[in-house]
Order: sequence, then C-alpha cells, then structure tokens
Amino acid sequence: MSDSCGNPATETEALMPRRRKFDKTKICVKCKTNPGSLIIRHAVYCKECFVPLTTHKFRRSLEPFVNAKPDGPRRTALKPQGNLLVGFSGGLGSTVLLDLVHRYYVVPDKALIQDDGGSHHPRHERVWKRVVVGYVEVCDAFPSMVERMSDVRAIMEGYGGFEFVPLRIQDAFDPCWWKKIGRDPVNLGVDMTDEALKLLRLEESTSPLEAMRSYMASLPTTTARSTALQTLTRVLLQYTAQANDCSHLVLGTSLTSLAVSLISGVAHGGGFHVREEMQEEWTADQSSDREVDVAKKATKRHGLRIIRPLRDVGMKECGAWSWWMGLKVVGRENWEWPGFKPGIGALTKAFIVGLEKDYPSTVSTIVRTCGKLSPKGIVEGKCISCERPIQSGIQDWQARISIRSRHNGDEQAPFEEVAESLSPFLCYPCRITLTSRSTRPILNPFPNSNHDVSLTPLPMWTGRVLHPPKTSGSEEGDAEIVVGRTLARSEMKNAVKEFLLQDE
Ligand SMILES: [Zn+2]
Ligand SMILES: [Zn+2]
Repeated sequence: MSDSCGNPATETEALMPRRRKFDKTKICVKCKTNPGSLIIRHAVYCKECFVPLTTHKFRRSLEPFVNAKPDGPRRTALKPQGNLLVGFSGGLGSTVLLDLVHRYYVVPDKALIQDDGGSHHPRHERVWKRVVVGYVEVCDAFPSMVERMSDVRAIMEGYGGFEFVPLRIQDAFDPCWWKKIGRDPVNLGVDMTDEALKLLRLEESTSPLEAMRSYMASLPTTTARSTALQTLTRVLLQYTAQANDCSHLVLGTSLTSLAVSLISGVAHGGGFHVREEMQEEWTADQSSDREVDVAKKATKRHGLRIIRPLRDVGMKECGAWSWWMGLKVVGRENWEWPGFKPGIGALTKAFIVGLEKDYPSTVSTIVRTCGKLSPKGIVEGKCISCERPIQSGIQDWQARISIRSRHNGDEQAPFEEVAESLSPFLCYPCRITLTSRSTRPILNPFPNSNHDVSLTPLPMWTGRVLHPPKTSGSEEGDAEIVVGRTLARSEMKNAVKEFLLQDE
C-alpha cells in the first residue's frame, strides 16, 4: 500500500499540516528593519507598519462604495449622497470601526493620514455632513442582562463629533417609534400555533416591551431567537438610517465575525442571502433591491448601502488595534438564555474562533469563497420580516416537502384576519425562524410574563404587507398576494410515491 492511501483517521493532520506560527523571520515583513510585534496569517508586522496596513484594509472596503457610482482605485473626491450611520454594538469590531471612522471622517487624525495622504484624501472637507451612531440595547430580550446604554453614551461623549441615537430592541414593536420616523403604525400579529402562520390585526394593548418578549418567547429554538435578534437589530438600524437621511450604514463585522455569520447563515437556510450578508443596498419601499432599473439608478438616489469596512480585518487585528490605540471595549454580552442550549450561531462562533487559532488562513478563505458565490434563482419580492430578497418558488417547494400539522379551522380568531398565511411574504430563513421545531418543548424564557402564542405580535415594519409596494412596470392593482394551498391527499401521495415503502 502506498503512503498516499493511508488511513486519514490515524493521520489527523494529513490534509492540512499545521504551519509554523510565522514564516522564516521575526523581523517585520513590511519595513524589514523593526522586530515584529504581531503575526497576521503567518506574516510578522511591527506596530508602525500594522497601523497603515489596517487603515488601508478599512478604506479599501469602504471608500470605493461611497460615491454613487462605485469605483475601483479612486481618483475623484468622496461625495456621498447622504449621511453616515455607524451601527455600534459595544463589541470589539464596532469599537475599532467607530475609532477608525472618527479618525478618518469626523476629526481627521493627522498622524494617521499623513503617511498615506495622497491628493484624494478627505483632509480638507468633511466627507459625511452628519455622522450618526446607532446603538441598539438588547438587554430586555434576556431575563437578566446588564444594560450598557450609559457606558455607550459615555464613549460617544468622549469622542465628540458624533450624533448619538439610542435605540432599544423593543422599539421594533413600538408604534410611537414607528410614528416618530414618519410612518403609519399597524399592529399585526401571527398565530404561531399553526404552521400556516395566520396573519391577524391586533389591538394595541400591550407595551412594546411585552410585545417584544412575547415575540421572543414564541420563537421555537435558541437559534431562532438569536437570528431574530440579529435581524431586528439590523432592520432597526436600517430604518434609523433612512429616517436620518443616511446613504451609508457601516457595521463593525470583522473578518472573523463575517465568517461566523456566513457559515451559520447557510446552516440556518440562508444560502440565498450570502451576498446580502457581505454587502447590500436597501430601499425601504421597494419590493426588491436586486432588480434595480439601471437607467433610473443613474439619475435617482441610490438605496442605503450597508457596508462592513472591517471585512478584511480579523479579530486578532481588531484586538491589537484597540490595545495599541487604548480603546475601551464596553463589550457585548453573549446572547444566552439561561437553561437553553446554545444555538447554531454560538456553536459556529466557537468553531470558527478555534479554527482561526490553529489555521489562521481558513477564516479568510471562507469569506473569499462565499464572496464568489452567486445564489441561483429569481428574486420574488422582499421579505417583510428581514427586508431581504425572497427566492422565487420556495413556497411551492416547501408545500411539497413539508409535513404540516394543521388546526381545524372551527375556532374563530378573536381578531380580524389579514391573510390566511404569512408564509408568502417571508424568505426561507425567516420562515424557518418562525416555524422550525426543536426536539425539546419550548420553554418561555420570561416565565413571569403571560403571552399568547396564537397572538404573537410582529415588528412594525411587517405592516408593509398591507400596502404592497409597486414593482416597476406593473400597473396599480397588479400586486398579487400568493397564498399557498392545501394539497389533496392524492396529490400528496403522488409527490412522494417513489419514497413510499410497499405495504407488506
Ligand atoms: Zn515594519
Ligand atoms: Zn426574511
């Protein structure tokens, strides 16, 4: 037997030999004079070279998308169409992002900018007229989590030059917040006892806090809960950006956290959103952002660009930046519900962070590989829950493969029924979030609150379902509501007949 046919189980590192932590030398690979202080993917850098390297990566991921017409290496000045919103979570990545935004676009740091200035540098003119920082406090979604609002406010005051917009996760369920940003509130709810997800119009009786907790409590798994929190946070920031006339929203997702969200997103059925997970352009009242009329785009204002400028900067580099710049990381607590098993997100994070320690290049390989993917399928509108594109045809596909439990329709719902089913308005991962069942019974993380799973409140933006946006080219009244139908038993049998076992 030749060597190459050995048993991989006994040769654990046969495929990917662990490399030495750094290649050849301990001297900085850039200047080749200073002793190195940090190893980034096998290459050694000194502090003096690390700073311009990181700022270069930050600007390379952001600046080509600032002007309306995205470009490569830029020759013209940066002229965004609107303001900038920085999404701040208190975590390491967003702490570093906030610092970089401040040094580059709020109060230009001469020491930093001089070395790589160049003629096009935003030294003289302010790029964004207003730089707004949005912080979404999520502590109320957990039974006992420390609130960080005052710490975050102190950081903003320490910097100066930022406008601070404090938000709470329950704002997503708050008609007053929705009104404040110039929209008409409608209270919708969903019957989560039935997988058909009947859509109801609720009376405004619960507080936003109770509504949010009732929504969280109704979700079937830990994965669903943390996915929902992530989505609520992102969409709250998107609408805040729109209300503040922002053309750009930047998030502090590092290379490491991007790899985590890509892998866990795919594991949770979000493969169709791989592109959005990296970067997306969003318009509040457009049915789909992927099919933008090119001619219109040239003259009109572009949608909100959601950019992750640290997508090439790993967690370790963020740590080094915050240490050398003396930044205070308020910290983001782990999203854990006591007594519940960790969800896909937490497990993926543990896996990726561990992988990055021993095989530093794999994390950027994950991100680069996902960057090359372009999901198949046509976009069929926009999901009313996560505001991302819906893949065409999943409704039929799911109707074919699902074994559903249905309730008998005898009982009359106490509220007006808006639609027989919410499903046609949801993307696949959002549908999974609402309906996937865990093997364990669902426990309420807030045992003291009483909530009714058959009347689960929905975030304010889902009210959009009542006013379907006009798609370009279609006449008014064309907006079609597609509702799934129940298959007849014979049809069901036909669809699965090749998988059925013969009766003995
Ligand atoms: Zn150096
Ligand atoms: Zn969705």
